[in-house]
Formats: sequence, structure tokens, C-alpha cells
Amino acid sequence: MLINYKTYLIFLFGSLAVSIGLQMLLPWPYGLIAALAIFIVFPLFLRNRALKRMGGLGTDAGTGGGGGFFGQGQGVRYICLACNNRFKGGICPRCGSKMKRADF
Ligand SMILES: [Zn+2]
Repeated sequence: MLINYKTYLIFLFGSLAVSIGLQMLLPWPYGLIAALAIFIVFPLFLRNRALKRMGGLGTDAGTGGGGGFFGQGQGVRYICLACNNRFKGGICPRCGSKMKRADF
């Protein structure tokens, strides 16, 4: 579900073509082993790439315009204007004041 289905198909057919090529280039047992290795390694490679892309998106969201959304996911922290207490939620738990500003 992380991997784009179309990309996966392209890679699948690509590795199929490469494996057929390997059958022609290498003698029988080595060609088969190499082809199997590609079929095992390619999905792993794709998954790693997808995970790296997810990580990249995460850092982009942290620095870019999506920072607000990313911050909400972690829970927005506020600083009380009355007593400078840092807290989460609507009301300061120390003094009960609703006067607050968001802490980034
Ligand atoms: Zn307070």
C-alpha cells in the first residue's frame, strides 16, 4: 500500500526482463540464482525506497508549510501567558488561565 502499484508493475516487468537476459548470459544454475536474487532483492529495495520517501516527506512537512498539521499530530503545546507554564490542552493546569500562546 506504500508502494505505487504502477511503479511496482514496472519494476516487476523490468526485473522479469533482466532475469530473462540473465538466463541467456549466464549458464543455467547461475542465471536462475541471479534471477531469484533479483526477485527477492527488488521488493526489498522498493520498500526501503518507499520508507525513505516517507521519511523525506516527514522532514519536509516539519520545515515547510505542512508544519502545523505535523505539529497537530504530535499534540500542540501552549505556553500560559499568566504563569509561563507549558501545557497541552485548553486550560493551564497550574493556574487555570485560558490565556495562552502556541509553543513551536
Ligand atoms: Zn498558568
